[in-house]
Amino acid sequence: MTDPLDEAWELSPRVALRPEPFGALAYHFGNRRLTFLKRPELVSVLRDLSGEPDARAALTRAGVPAGRWPAYAEALRGLAGADMIRPRGRTEADRTRPPHVTAAPGTAGQSTTAQSLPAKNAAARSGTASGSLAKRFEYGLAAPICLTWELTYACNLSCVHCLSSSGRRDPRELATAQCEAVIDELQAMQVFYVNIGGGEPTVRPDFWHLVQYAVNHQVGVKFSTNGARLTPERARFLAATDYVDVQVSLDGATPEVNDRVRGPGSYETALRALDNLAAAGFADAKLSVVVTRENAGQLDEFKAIADERGATLRLTRLRPSGRGADVWDELHPTAAQQRDLYEWLLRAGEDVLTGDSFFHLAGYGESLPGLNLCGAGRVVCLIDPLGDVYACPFAIHDRFRAGNVLSDGGFAAVWRESELFGDLRSPQTSGACTGCGFFDSCRGGCMAAKFFTGLPLDGPDPECVQGHAAAALAAGDRTVPRPSQDHSRRPGARRAGAGPVPVRIGRRPSPAAPPVHPPVHPPVHACAESPLAGFTPSSDV
Ligand code: SF4
Ligand code: SF4
Repeated sequence: MTDPLDEAWELSPRVALRPEPFGALAYHFGNRRLTFLKRPELVSVLRDLSGEPDARAALTRAGVPAGRWPAYAEALRGLAGADMIRPRGRTEADRTRPPHVTAAPGTAGQSTTAQSLPAKNAAARSGTASGSLAKRFEYGLAAPICLTWELTYACNLSCVHCLSSSGRRDPRELATAQCEAVIDELQAMQVFYVNIGGGEPTVRPDFWHLVQYAVNHQVGVKFSTNGARLTPERARFLAATDYVDVQVSLDGATPEVNDRVRGPGSYETALRALDNLAAAGFADAKLSVVVTRENAGQLDEFKAIADERGATLRLTRLRPSGRGADVWDELHPTAAQQRDLYEWLLRAGEDVLTGDSFFHLAGYGESLPGLNLCGAGRVVCLIDPLGDVYACPFAIHDRFRAGNVLSDGGFAAVWRESELFGDLRSPQTSGACTGCGFFDSCRGGCMAAKFFTGLPLDGPDPECVQGHAAAALAAGDRTVPRPSQDHSRRPGARRAGAGPVPVRIGRRPSPAAPPVHPPVHPPVHACAESPLAGFTPSSDV
C-alpha cells in the first residue's frame, strides 16, 4: 500500500470546509458524508495539500511534529477512503473508482484527528466515538449542520400526525426575495445544505426556483414531499440537478395502513413519485417513514419497497408535536414495539437512516449509531414559513422561538446571539435521569417529546424504555402545551369517501381547544430529529 505521506493530494472538488472552534467540518456534496476535523492543524494541512508536492511537505508547512505524522497518515487514508481528498490529477472518470489509498484494516473510527458522521458502524455503536463528537457539539457550532426550513404551511394532504399543524398557507409567509436573502445568508455561513419541508413545499409556485437558487449558491437541498408533484418531468429535472436529495413520505407499507394516516390515495401517490425518480435515474432517493403503532410491524416491507426502487429507507420517530400531539396516545409505538424496533435496527438497520431519531432506545443497553444528542439550538434548528426561528422542527412553540429572520437582524444573528440558543448550549441538568445508568447514551431523550407531553424538560423522555416516565404520564396534573402555530384546515376538509379512521383522532381535552380538526400533515422533515439525519457515510475515517 502506498504511504499517503508520499502522495500529492488535493481536496475533492465537491468538498466544502467550514471552520469551527475545534477545527472544521468537511462536507462532501456528492456522497453527503460529513467529516469532523478535530484539529486546526489538520485543517491547515488539508488546505495546503494542493500546493505542496506531497503530504509530508504539507505537514511540515503546518508545523506538525514528525512524531505525529503516523496519525496524520492514518487520517489521510480515511479521508481518501471517504473521497474527501484525492490524489492530484485524477480525472472525473476516476471518481467512480475507489481511491488507491485505502483505510488500513481495523483503523476505522480510531483516528484522533478526523471522524465521519454519522456512523452506521461499529465504532459509533460502541458509543465511544459518538460520545466525543457529542461533547463537542453540545456547545453549539458556528452554523447549524441540520437546518430545516419549512417554506409553507400549505399542504395538499391531511395527515393525522403533522408536526407543524399544516394545511393552510399563511399570508405572512416569506416572499421569494426574502427566501433568496435567507439563502444568501446560508451561503455566507457555509450551511452545507438545508432540509426543506412544509407543509408540502412543492405547492409554492416558486419552489423549483428556490431549489435552483440554493444550489446555485452552494447550499445543497434535501426536500421532503408527499410526492404529489413529482411528475416524470420534475423527476428528470431533479436527476439532472446536483446537490439535491429527495425524501418521499410514506407511513404504511400497504395502502390500508398508510392512507389511514396520510389520507386516501397518498400511498399510490408516494410510490408513483418514487417510481418516477427511479425511472429518471435519480440516485438514492429516501423513503421516509414515521414509525407508528400501526406500521411498526412493517419494517421489512418498507425496506423492500425502498430496495426495489434503489432508494434508502429512513425511519423517524413520532413526536407529540403539532397535530401529532392529538394522536400520540393512540399512535406512538407500544413498549413491545419499541423493543422490536430497537432489535430490528440492530439486526437489519445497517443501511437504514434514522437521523439519530431513536437515541432514547439506548436505554435498552447498546447505543444505536449516531450522536445520541438532542441538537436543538446547537446543531439543529427550524426556520418556519414566517421566518420565525425555532430550536427544533418539533418544537414549534413560543418557548423555543429564538427570533425572526426579518425582524431580528437575519438568520445568522439569531443563530449566534439568541438568548434561547445560548441557554441550550449551556450545560443542562439531568433531573430525574441523573441516577440512570443509561443517561450517557440516552441523555434523557427528546426535549420536544417531553415538552408536548407536559413532562419536565430535565426528566425522562415520555417513551423512556426503562419505564421511568410512566408515573408522570399517568398523573392527572400535567399541562400539555399547544403549539404556537396551527394552520390546520377546518372540519370537513377531509376528502369525501375517506371512510372512518380506525385510530381515535382528537385534540386533547382543553376548555380552550377548538373543534377537532381534520388531520393535515407535512412531509417528514429531513433532519428534524437530529444533526445526523440524512447523512449516509458507511465508515469512519
Ligand atoms: S427532535 Fe427532540 S431530540 Fe431531536 S433536536 Fe428536537 S428536541 Fe432535540
Ligand atoms: S431514565 Fe432518562 S436517561 Fe434513563 S433511560 Fe429513561 S429517559 Fe433515558
